[in-house]
Amino acid sequence: MKIAVIKETNPGEQRVALIPDLVARLVKQGLEIWVEARAGEKSFWSNEAYTQAGAEVIADTDRLWGEPDVVLKVAPPNPAEAGKLRSGATLISCLTPLANEQLMSQLASQGVTSLAMELIPRSTRAQSMDALSSQASIAGYKAVLLAAAALPKYFPMLTTAAGTIAPAKVFIIGAGVAGLQAIATARRLGAIVEAFDIRPAVREEVQSLGAKFIEVPLNEDTVGENGYAKEVSQSAKELTQATIAQHVRSADVVITTAQVPGKKAPLLVTAEMVSQMRPGSVIVDLAAEQGGNCAYTEAGKSIDRHQVMVIGTINLPASVPVHASQLYSKNISTLLQYLIKDGVLNLDFTDDIVSSTCVTHEGKICHDRVRNFVK
Ligand code: NAD
Repeated sequence: MKIAVIKETNPGEQRVALIPDLVARLVKQGLEIWVEARAGEKSFWSNEAYTQAGAEVIADTDRLWGEPDVVLKVAPPNPAEAGKLRSGATLISCLTPLANEQLMSQLASQGVTSLAMELIPRSTRAQSMDALSSQASIAGYKAVLLAAAALPKYFPMLTTAAGTIAPAKVFIIGAGVAGLQAIATARRLGAIVEAFDIRPAVREEVQSLGAKFIEVPLNEDTVGENGYAKEVSQSAKELTQATIAQHVRSADVVITTAQVPGKKAPLLVTAEMVSQMRPGSVIVDLAAEQGGNCAYTEAGKSIDRHQVMVIGTINLPASVPVHASQLYSKNISTLLQYLIKDGVLNLDFTDDIVSSTCVTHEGKICHDRVRNFVK
């Protein structure tokens, strides 16, 4: 079976879907791997490293897209790239299927089988394939480094001959995968950390990382399908904002990560809260691409409002391309190996990993949630 690894073309994308170490493992299992020339360049893997791992490095993009049985990518293909896939081929990639109506219809009409890495179930069985977690953790880590670099202060407490420096105060909103890694990173840098999440179940995890959990007593169920947060009522939103306002005000750094699957990100940090923060404070909004948790967030921009830097960062995992690619490669190759039986791809739709992840198959959108979205 032939598998192609494509060079990413999205601006700012520096990751590669499969690193040479994992190419070598797949080659040992009898798979033929084609890698687009310079696919690993931005994550510091050379063409030679791929050749030594047993891959064939190929420059002809039409061949790379058009001939293999399986095509591996990090970011969704653009329409021209997807157009080169042949009927019956399989694409495994992040596809943002719930925001990419045209691509989903195109893949279905071309007869391409596609599997979206974002739809891997968040279960113990599928943990090693969970690209959302591996990449969100990197985003949480890097968000703290961005904040530390932008803050005109130290993070740790320091006692020096020239006086004592108070530690920075960091407030993390949303303690999922990214938020927990942000807490851990801010603690390692010596900050005092507080965190809030509408899912009370994360309290212990927050506390075990050395942060204080901020309680907001909401009289409604905040946990929906698969343990994710669900959208809360207007009164719960108002109570949340009123409670977190004082923590935002006293923080040097606020990192927001709050998301509700399939919805616009909740607005948690209002313009008024920002105006009350100390000059020089920093907000990093990891929900920028989903509309932002802060009223001032602009995706892809860092802007100054009331002398507070609001960083609307996008695609942070791509800024740590070596480890982001290493982890993504592990996720995607584990899925690939899981799907291969007797040397061919075997999609068993009674298996929840397959049925949750496969978006298009045999000319149709086969995933209920995506089909309802595309309608
Ligand atoms: P996410 O990116 O969808 O959201 C980030 C966080 O924002 C979540 O913790 C959510 O509760 C929080 N949030 C949403 N609305 C909020 C609001 N109004 N105020 C404050 N916080 C708000 O979440 P994620 O990090 O991708 O994952 C979260 C879920 O996935 C959890 O249930 C987690 O336990 C589960 N998970 C399970 C596994 C596994 O079992 N292998 C792996 C990873 C994640």
